[in-house]
Amino acid sequence: MTAQPSTNKKVTLEELADLCVRRGFFFQSGRIYGGLSGFYDYGPLGVELQRNILNSWWRWFVELRSDVYGLDGSIITHPRTWEASGHVESFIDFLVSCKKCGSEYRADALLEELGIRVTSLTAESLKRAIEDHGVRCPVCGGELSDPRPFNLMFTTTVGPRREQPLVAYLRPETAQLIFTNFKNIVFAMGATLPFGVAQYGKAFRNEISPRGFLFRLREFTQMEIEYFVNPRKLNSCPYFEEVKDLKVNLLTAEDQEEGRQETREITLGEALERGFITTAWHAYWIGESLRWLWSLGLDPRHLRVREHVKSELAHYAVQTFDIEYYFPFMGWKEIVGISNRSDYDLRRHQEYSGESLHIVDDGEKVVPHVIEPSFGLERVILAVLTEAYTTEGSRTYLRLKPEIAPFKVAVFPLVKRDGLDTKALEVYRILRAHFRAYYDDDGSIGRRYAKADEIGVPYCVTIDGQTLADNTVTVRFRDTREQVRVPLSSLVDTLRTFIEKGVTRAETSYTVSAGKEPEGR
Ligand code: AMP
Repeated sequence: MTAQPSTNKKVTLEELADLCVRRGFFFQSGRIYGGLSGFYDYGPLGVELQRNILNSWWRWFVELRSDVYGLDGSIITHPRTWEASGHVESFIDFLVSCKKCGSEYRADALLEELGIRVTSLTAESLKRAIEDHGVRCPVCGGELSDPRPFNLMFTTTVGPRREQPLVAYLRPETAQLIFTNFKNIVFAMGATLPFGVAQYGKAFRNEISPRGFLFRLREFTQMEIEYFVNPRKLNSCPYFEEVKDLKVNLLTAEDQEEGRQETREITLGEALERGFITTAWHAYWIGESLRWLWSLGLDPRHLRVREHVKSELAHYAVQTFDIEYYFPFMGWKEIVGISNRSDYDLRRHQEYSGESLHIVDDGEKVVPHVIEPSFGLERVILAVLTEAYTTEGSRTYLRLKPEIAPFKVAVFPLVKRDGLDTKALEVYRILRAHFRAYYDDDGSIGRRYAKADEIGVPYCVTIDGQTLADNTVTVRFRDTREQVRVPLSSLVDTLRTFIEKGVTRAETSYTVSAGKEPEGR
């Protein structure tokens, strides 16, 4: 496995961002006032995609399991939460500023962009790297200041008191709300080990340099699971069989520390046996997370599992693996982090709150250990859109899985006369009751297909002269442009089957008769 998969198409960030804005997936927040860096608003297409991915995640990790409960904690959170979690003290990046023009940079990101690798993220090592490589301000060439710590948490005040107001934090991760509710969930649900709690929602980080379109934001959505296990049973995972033969592209910490960037293709079973992944539960959650990402249509060759080297481990982590996606425009980047947080968080909350956060397992009191798969929704969306973006000659389309496509079906009259538009509206009203659909009779049929392709509509239903004669319509497949004729009486069932089975071409078992779409009408 090479460091750069050759299979990945060469979409640029500009092309992707242009499509997203033009077609209503994402808009820069506050653009009419000059924009606010690091904030994006989801447009009409974006919210549909977001909801579909969130639903898929919830279904996969909560609904279809008996051992995971859901939670939706508050966004503005008690300040003690973050003292206990260590975020007040340790949730920092190092900032450098230009002594001449005042531009500010995140020190490690600046070095990374210049191709300079730092093995340890301390103020001293960053300073040394800047000096050794003579790094200067990219804007004006001025001298840079010494790196200084910058806490990424946003604060706000709570209540009406002007003097000495209560300062609270906007949560920088959803995870802590799960830990502070641990006892509530155990009591309310009668939970027994092992079990998990899942939560999705907004998280806020005052990133020094937001960038990469949706990649590094100041307000983003996390989808997290904290999975609680008896510390003596970290290697007895009853579901491990389900993932043990999955092949992953693994880059270990040791490989990186010895200067190797090549991944090894290895099964999760072997990775566990050889001690690359230290516990079976951790390996299981890596496998489960990958399986969900594959289900969204991400090519396994564009994903790798990279272990954190010691110096990048977060203050709570014993071992962490990132699932990284290969973005053709910015290389391998983290989209999911899967950490072994041990009992760090529960113990700290015990200490700070004075409440006991144990659970009884096998007759003994234990403070469970935690494996945490943490997904960033916007990063997953960016990967899904990158993967889906396809060009063929002058045609651009989003090859999204039907399950997550914002619109499942578009309805067109071939021409806007002869009663075809009336009939098409009738068909649209029928379909609208079952699927996210839209009606379009504007301009040539070719342009309407092109627009549907660009927003990833998997099926276009067209009403033509024959429809009036025999009550059949054509269904056109986005990826192949093949068309099949389907009786109106079975259209809803046919489309439902297509969506459920992810059909993207005219497969004979599902269709009546197939043909190619007429060009340029
Ligand atoms: P972390 O707690 O830093 O491991 O973050 C967990 C996940 O949240 C990451 O894998 C990302 O997908 C996502 N994430 C973290 N920071 C950001 C950010 N600034 N913008 C967008 N997503 C983020």
